[in-house]
Amino acid sequence: MEKANKALLLKRGIGLRPSAYACRLFEIIAGQLYISENRGVGSNFLLFFFSCVVSAACQGADHLTADELPLGQDTTVFFGGTILTLDKDFSEFDSMAIKGNRILALGNDAGVSKIAGNEAMRIDLAGQTVMPGFIDAHAHPMTGVATSVFTDVGITRFRSVEMALSFMSRHPSVSEDWYLFIGLDLATQDFQESKLTRFHLDAVSSAVPVVVWHAGGHRMTVNSLMLERLNITSATEDPADSEYGRFEDGSPDGNLAGLTALVSALSQIDPYQKFDRFSGAIGLADEWVRHGITTIGLASVGSPDDWRMIERLSASGLFPIRTRSYLLWHALEQWKLSGIAPGQGDARARIVGWKIAADGSNQAFTGLQRDPYLGKQSRGMAYMTQEALTAAISEGTLMGGQMAMHGNGDAGIDNIIAGVEAARIGGLDPIRPRIEHCSMIQDDQISKLKESDISCSFLIAHVSNWGSAFRDRVFGREKAQLLDRAGSFERAGVPFSLHSDYPVSRLKPLGMMQVAVTREVTADPNFTLAPRERASIEAALKAVTSVPAKQLLSDDELGSLEVGKLADFVILAEDPRTVSPNELGAIEVLGTWIDGRQQYPRAPAETESN
Ligand SMILES: [Zn+2]
Repeated sequence: MEKANKALLLKRGIGLRPSAYACRLFEIIAGQLYISENRGVGSNFLLFFFSCVVSAACQGADHLTADELPLGQDTTVFFGGTILTLDKDFSEFDSMAIKGNRILALGNDAGVSKIAGNEAMRIDLAGQTVMPGFIDAHAHPMTGVATSVFTDVGITRFRSVEMALSFMSRHPSVSEDWYLFIGLDLATQDFQESKLTRFHLDAVSSAVPVVVWHAGGHRMTVNSLMLERLNITSATEDPADSEYGRFEDGSPDGNLAGLTALVSALSQIDPYQKFDRFSGAIGLADEWVRHGITTIGLASVGSPDDWRMIERLSASGLFPIRTRSYLLWHALEQWKLSGIAPGQGDARARIVGWKIAADGSNQAFTGLQRDPYLGKQSRGMAYMTQEALTAAISEGTLMGGQMAMHGNGDAGIDNIIAGVEAARIGGLDPIRPRIEHCSMIQDDQISKLKESDISCSFLIAHVSNWGSAFRDRVFGREKAQLLDRAGSFERAGVPFSLHSDYPVSRLKPLGMMQVAVTREVTADPNFTLAPRERASIEAALKAVTSVPAKQLLSDDELGSLEVGKLADFVILAEDPRTVSPNELGAIEVLGTWIDGRQQYPRAPAETESN
């Protein structure tokens, strides 16, 4: 492919041009200024002046735009490999032509070349495999990049909470005024005490706010000073969707769980709020295209400003990944005031629906269960009452949005299914309802999903990263078998996709496929979690392409290679169906194309001509 890329550039008569890199750098700086300006730090005049300089410099740069390409060269034929279409028949061809940003033809080389014409560029795949671009059905890039202001104290660094606390005392985090830590995991890290409280963190510092954001994102522990800043006292009532941990006398113990509690804590953390998420997202996109990701489901856009940033990223030409957004239901009033609603946007960035959460996360013991957690009285937390959940599903549907519904525990999932059924009984037709994570699921629920036409998306890193913790500390051996039941879903005919939930996991699509197919557990290599729940390779391939495309209401344009669909695809060194399952994650991504343009490896000409 290296060779083919060079051939492609040579054919276009385009070499490496320093001016291209300079333009990209200028554009990133301009993007940063724009963000600063929005926060009231910069000035409109400075932004305008700088933008003019950038745009003049870049227009004068030494490159060809798409309009200037010699006639016919916007058509490219890929031949001599395996074109794995992922269409409904799993069709396979050896040649594909694209024209502009669409797929023009599929078939054998002679037939495709005839349609493409003599002027088309030709790229010899030399036996490599082309398949649809990978879709990560659910991720949080904007929140995720800003978590870099927190220092990791998770299981990969510290075996026990005591070791993590000792590190925190000795190594304050990135900011002098804030001690911010992330990734602490009471499900996997040993802890000799019954609970972590503000007093442990007062010992880290009582002079500055200390915040520990737990793995999975659904719980925080803060020190006494941070509690003061949040005005949480013995007299403060819990918000409807959240819980403030308490000592026996009712005074707050420093633990915060639930959406309102976390959102209000985050709103106070200056380094997090001031993080340059625009540039951070661009850096993340560079990493994602290297792993073949072409589209992501943005699983919760939190505010009108967040949506406007996504629009700007998309328009900047520096963030090539397509996005399909879910607006956080929690901020409904803001959405109504701003007029931002599902259906808005374009093929690059579009709002498809609403995000609601029925419960918390299992590893933080806040997923809502039918039975108590192992060795505990608690069954977890309902983030929404059944009544509120049913009302949201009905209202969201009436407002034209699809519902993406977070449910981790089996009782949380019960509530979601009941809410969808209630909306249907009320005469509504929810649009492709999907359950996010859908982690602990019983046989009777799988049948109901089938009957109710509800699909699921698995955070498959739950298996690899927490599989043994779920067995030993969270659920016990028997219930742990009910985690991410890809095999049962496949047999029952219930569609499922895979997602990273970035920053919860950093698994890449081929790595996610490997976990789904093997059920391997990183911490216990001799243990396979519920082998009968292994997915077939075909189901795993669909779970990162055609199924998420349908879940994101984009199956008419994405998710399979078919004539007329958008030219988003990856070129892989090997056919995923031919390698051993535990080598899937190691397959090399040789090229990533989005909208008919090569985004990885990025050729200067491709960067500029947007
Ligand atoms: Zn999520």
